[in-house]
Amino acid sequence: MCTRCGLASGRANVVFGMGNPRAQLMFVGEAPGEQEDLQGLPFVGRSGQLLDRLILEEMGLTRRDFYICNTVKCRPPGNRDPLPEEIETCRPFLDQQLHLVGPKVVVTLGNFATRLLLSTTEPISRLRGRAYPFRSGHLVPTFHPSAALRGGGTVVAQMRADLVRAKEAL
Ligand code: URA
Repeated sequence: MCTRCGLASGRANVVFGMGNPRAQLMFVGEAPGEQEDLQGLPFVGRSGQLLDRLILEEMGLTRRDFYICNTVKCRPPGNRDPLPEEIETCRPFLDQQLHLVGPKVVVTLGNFATRLLLSTTEPISRLRGRAYPFRSGHLVPTFHPSAALRGGGTVVAQMRADLVRAKEAL
């Protein structure tokens, strides 16, 4: 198992990714939380449940239809933000996932995935709302579902609009 960074010492499981490895659509989150670390699967806690519901309602898709993973594959202690060196160390895994799955549309969830893949430091609130050319397809940034859990109706409505945008880009 990977020991390239310090997150190795605190994790229960590496959370690599799940879903359809040949999907046209890929979601990229931030890092595993407690439930994800325990189960070894991405987005199985509260934010994942909200995300699944929004994807089903706006795109009519389930996890069999897309691939989902995180920017950083191991849980940061106490759910702190991933550090720049952890993101950089883990990046080859995400790059390989993008290469192997080869999605037409990538939806980034929150600041970390969006900034990394668009090579910018702009905040998600300014980046979302449009699709960006990415590899041979498009990247659609949206809020992280945990922001929707905290932020309520307005954030949820914006996430819904972004998911519709992603569907149109497929
Ligand atoms: N938040 C994330 O960014 N990823 C997960 O897998 C769970 C919560």
